[in-house]
Amino acid sequence: MHTKTLAELSSALQKREISSVELTQYFLERIERYDSQLNAFVTVTSETALSQAQSADDRLKMGDHSALTGIPLAHKDIFCTSGIKTTCGSKMLDNFIAPYSATIVEKCQQAGMVMLGKTNMDEFAMGSSNETSYYGTVKNPWDLQAVPGGSSGGSASVVAARIAPIATGTDTGGSIRQPAALCGLTGLKPTYGLVSRYGMIAFASSLDQGGVLANNAEDTALLLGVMAGFDAKDSTSLDSPPKDYTARLNDSIKGLKIGLPKEYFGEGLDPEVAKVLEASIKTLEQQGAVCQEISLPNMHLSVPVYYIIAPAECSSNLSRYDGVRFGYRCDNPQDLLDMYKRSRGEGFGAEVKRRVMIGTYALSAGYYDAYYLKAQQIRRLISDDFKKAFEQVDVIASPTTPTAAFNFGEKTDDPVSMYLSDIYTIAVNLAGLPGLSMSAGFVNQRPVGLQLIGNYFSEDHLLNIAHQYQQDTDWHTQMPAQFS
Ligand code: GLN
Repeated sequence: MHTKTLAELSSALQKREISSVELTQYFLERIERYDSQLNAFVTVTSETALSQAQSADDRLKMGDHSALTGIPLAHKDIFCTSGIKTTCGSKMLDNFIAPYSATIVEKCQQAGMVMLGKTNMDEFAMGSSNETSYYGTVKNPWDLQAVPGGSSGGSASVVAARIAPIATGTDTGGSIRQPAALCGLTGLKPTYGLVSRYGMIAFASSLDQGGVLANNAEDTALLLGVMAGFDAKDSTSLDSPPKDYTARLNDSIKGLKIGLPKEYFGEGLDPEVAKVLEASIKTLEQQGAVCQEISLPNMHLSVPVYYIIAPAECSSNLSRYDGVRFGYRCDNPQDLLDMYKRSRGEGFGAEVKRRVMIGTYALSAGYYDAYYLKAQQIRRLISDDFKKAFEQVDVIASPTTPTAAFNFGEKTDDPVSMYLSDIYTIAVNLAGLPGLSMSAGFVNQRPVGLQLIGNYFSEDHLLNIAHQYQQDTDWHTQMPAQFS
């Protein structure tokens, strides 16, 4: 069952070859057997899962189902789930039970999907390796010494180990695409505003976007169809018409114009990774795509710009955790100020504190113009680079990450080298564009991802290209031996 695609599972459920309760039990058993090695779940919601599976079976019996009714999934622990703990990977929210569910959680539920649990993640989604979680590191199923990537590392790990068929994630600077690449998955960060942020705990609101981590493009398209759509509860939600993201999967990619940014294939990219990517681009060319070199001249500024804008927004968003209304409160505060200071001091981890300090500094009166304003201006230049590129090409292909997965501890003492793991993904968030990472091969048995960047609302096209690639390659069906 764990080797099947979502479409195959859906057909088995609809033909009643298996019930949703049986399928759910099957995955819960795999979680029980394997998660102790991975630490990928913060909470496993067995009871809720089995009762949702029972309702799904009732709907399937009555013929009142959608494509994904009865299919289990895992949610990143950044999405609020009514009545079930939502930690965001932080001690600050270790005791937090949201009174409502995120819109995407509701949408999955309405579609009849079954929630297996909540996945581990970097604290408040700040990180690229899942080493900042209060709940401990998550392991990469391809190599337990290697990081799974972050911040959606738990979601990537559960899908790669096939202990959940599919999972949700969020991507502020690469947190879906980077772990998807390091775990050999297909990961999609949609156009900003396509998927509701309501009930998704905020890190940097102008960059955060929910999306999908899956084994292949078709599965991704199916779940995106459930998640996407206007939500009046999110002021930045876009009122775009509903789309069938599977509709274009089988289109030919003959004549597709792919841009290869010269800034993304030069210095800093591991030569072994470059070789793998060259081969994957060749496959796309054999399928009829035509490649040309393009330039994105301001891309080298994306990491410094992001590390002003994201911390600035984070310092504002995280000011709500003050020990008063919800979340962690220190013991025996002496007075109000002591309570604020100690609740925040004890509740947040080092990386979160670093971001809050950088953000507070960048937004302070004397420095606002020099840092935040300047960063916003450069952000516009970065968007303009993409705009110009899309006048010449249909899609941009690039590495997702400069290297395959690194080992635990390798970058924890050097935040800047950690920040550079997202050098190829961050610009996409700054511009609000959709980006997809798909598995393109291996370096030393660790997966490597190719990133496809499209124009606004071109998710169906990106999924089409990835699906076509997956027709002629089998990276996406390979499984880590220990979990197969
Ligand atoms: N790794 C980046 C950071 O630490 C991006 C994280 C994300 O996309 N949530 O901020």
